Amino acid sequence: MADPFSGVEETLFVRHIAIVGSGPAGYYTAEAALKLWGDNVRVDIFDTLPVPFGLIRSGVAPDHQSIKAVSRRYEATALTDNVRFVGNVMIGRDVSVPELQNLYDAVVLATGAPHDRKLGLPGEDLPNVFGSASFVGWYNGHPNFADLDPLLSHDTAVIVGNGNVALDCARILAKSQEEFHGSDIVAHALEQLGTSKIRRVVILGRRGPHQIAMTPKELGELGHLARACPMVDPADLPDPAEDAALEPGQRKSVTHLRAFAQNGAESEGCAGKDVVIAFDFFAAPKALIGESRVEEIEVERTRLDGGKAVGTGETYRIPAGLVIACIGYQTSPIPDVPFDIAGGRFANDEGRIAPGLYCVGWARRGPTGTIGTNRPDGYAIIEKIAEDIAVLGDEGSGKAGRPGFDQLAEERALHVVKFADWKKIEEAETANARTGAPREKFVAVDHMIEAARKD
Ligand code: NAP
Repeated sequence: MADPFSGVEETLFVRHIAIVGSGPAGYYTAEAALKLWGDNVRVDIFDTLPVPFGLIRSGVAPDHQSIKAVSRRYEATALTDNVRFVGNVMIGRDVSVPELQNLYDAVVLATGAPHDRKLGLPGEDLPNVFGSASFVGWYNGHPNFADLDPLLSHDTAVIVGNGNVALDCARILAKSQEEFHGSDIVAHALEQLGTSKIRRVVILGRRGPHQIAMTPKELGELGHLARACPMVDPADLPDPAEDAALEPGQRKSVTHLRAFAQNGAESEGCAGKDVVIAFDFFAAPKALIGESRVEEIEVERTRLDGGKAVGTGETYRIPAGLVIACIGYQTSPIPDVPFDIAGGRFANDEGRIAPGLYCVGWARRGPTGTIGTNRPDGYAIIEKIAEDIAVLGDEGSGKAGRPGFDQLAEERALHVVKFADWKKIEEAETANARTGAPREKFVAVDHMIEAARKD
């Protein structure tokens, strides 16, 4: 089949595309639209926040600056005349999805998965129990979570989950202040972490070492921390011969776990370091216990049955002054859009939700894969839109597109933040950076808008 992206398609009419969400999925979709239609497309990218890039700004760990550099690629798309950033506008509140559908030929929901999946356990609502969206949002300065104020005054923190987000949270809790040099961790988090009394970070996995969802590079980082040392109970590791059946990436991750198992017993001290990161495998959380805040977590030993974790009936408690559940995310429902509750994403058929309405990235497939996975996703959805719009014929839909939205925004007195305004916010954040840091983020929407309005 011919590659539809091999050259700009010559068409007689302009396509009007609205993308809701300015994270990786949103910008890759815009990039694909530009590649296919060039000057024959106008793309508006909406975001609730006055700042773009979604997960790159608010999800990717602040000490992973090289991953954040991908935003430069999105900026190249953002700065073309045919793509606009429409920040500080919440679709579903300020403007409805059906209203967007009336204005644009295609509406693509690229809203990611910003909400935590719940553990569904007793005690989950106790103070100092957080989901990873909140905790990550706190250290990354997302305005919704800047006031989280986690207490770090207890010796032990427990992290639930064996994915990369669990690793991010463990690493952030375990790092010394000096190790944040060059990161864009926000000042309130850096300061609070500087007072932390946490000396033991337990990572609970309900299955075993062979079932982790941690990638080798990220897991390997734990072995190089200045004041923390990862530990694995050798008894949890399968026979080394069984590693041969793993796919290469997973085998590499398990090799890291085998190295961590050489760090000695916790009682003997962990390679002379102050902080222990203890992996507790075959351990499923059962309840969170405490009076005015979480104090303990009850855990049940598991065994594997056909790859699934099943309880053995043996339970024990771990003291825990802070619990972070890193068990995956879900998409926020939007009024008028069918939602797949079990999947935690929009109900869709390969990205198609309804005529003229699509979803992409985590909002389509759930929170899996890397940032790069969103690129083929974005290109695939534009291909589908191209197929669907083609049936309109050479006249186009006659929809109002951008001018129609601008009129609506004026009628509703919406305070739209444009990409040029964001560049002013970015400039102010760069100017406010502490020595060695790329930026000091504004953590309040009002402050972002104030910076955007400055001459
Ligand atoms: P994830 O990779 O899906 O991992 C979720 C973990 O939570 C799994 O170990 C899962 O165990 C466990 N879990 C789920 N429900 C549980 C429950 N009720 N009780 C106990 N454990 C439970 O999710 P994530 O860590 O949030 O990451 C999301 C995506 O972002 C992933 O694709 C990840 O690779 C990516 N990411 C990448 C980076 C990076 O590359 N640097 C950083 C952060 C995130 P089971 O396997 O048993 O279900």
